[in-house]
Amino acid sequence: MTFRQLYILMKNMLESASDSPATEALLLLSKVGNMTKEQILLLFEDEVPYSISEKAFKLAESRASGIPLQYITGKCYFYGLELSVEEGVFIPRVETEVLVDIALDIIGKNKLSTVLDIGTGSGAIALAIALNTNCKVYASDISKKALLTAMKNAADYAAKIEFFRGAFLTPVKHIINEIQLIVSNPPYIPVSSKLPKDVMHEPHEALFAGNDGLDFYRQIFSEPDLLKNKILIMEFSPDQKEEIQKICNYFGKISFFKDQFGKIRFFSLAVQ
Ligand code: SAM
Ligand code: GLN
Repeated sequence: MTFRQLYILMKNMLESASDSPATEALLLLSKVGNMTKEQILLLFEDEVPYSISEKAFKLAESRASGIPLQYITGKCYFYGLELSVEEGVFIPRVETEVLVDIALDIIGKNKLSTVLDIGTGSGAIALAIALNTNCKVYASDISKKALLTAMKNAADYAAKIEFFRGAFLTPVKHIINEIQLIVSNPPYIPVSSKLPKDVMHEPHEALFAGNDGLDFYRQIFSEPDLLKNKILIMEFSPDQKEEIQKICNYFGKISFFKDQFGKIRFFSLAVQ
């Protein structure tokens, strides 16, 4: 079999699972061959060693079964950073890059110097903020796997982020007075929602938050003393805007922001 024939076979296998089967087939092939995409293209008419075709076929099978590409390659991209990610760790979404833009703007305008990212996952938001400001950055998560990945990502970029493990504000109570800005992309999907196959491969604790998806916000706002004099920026699902407003209204003036696709997906709130 030639590389071209293998590539076409893989592309066909990926068609049902992926929106970009051609790109993904080439990417998987270059991962297995440990070559760049350009090198693979140069070899297109050559015979593929069996060891490579066997491995490439297995990866294409995994992808076709709905495993996200990022879990197979071990890499994802966020705010210009290449991050490690693996099964059990949420894959950062492009929408969340806008949350970082909002945070950088608010940090600059208010001259803030300490930030906490709750539910940091791969460390994406915390890292993007740490590398683009002089802020002291703290990050927390309930998941050990997420924290280990976030620590690796922070080390790869030589970013000094301090990590804590635990739910909501519990693990950071001792430093809460220091924190000026809290950012979070929490789980916000209702438990009964039907999600695409590849999303269902991601950790459920990263996605689902009670019957209406709002449990995380309710819990965070159930401890108002801990939020006093802090700015919060959080992501949510566009259809939750009214409920979010009801939960937060009491704490101060809320501002809403759209993602790059025009959907209202973030709020900021200065807690009085
Ligand atoms: N911030 C990352 C991002 O945007 O890519 C990850 C976001 S993911 C949607 C939500 C994260 O919150 C997951 O890593 C999950 O483990 C964590 N998480 C879920 N419930 C939590 C809780 N009660 N306290 C702290 N972290 C939580
Ligand atoms: N936006 C994600 C999705 O559609 C969900 C992220 C979240 O719950 N924070 O899968």
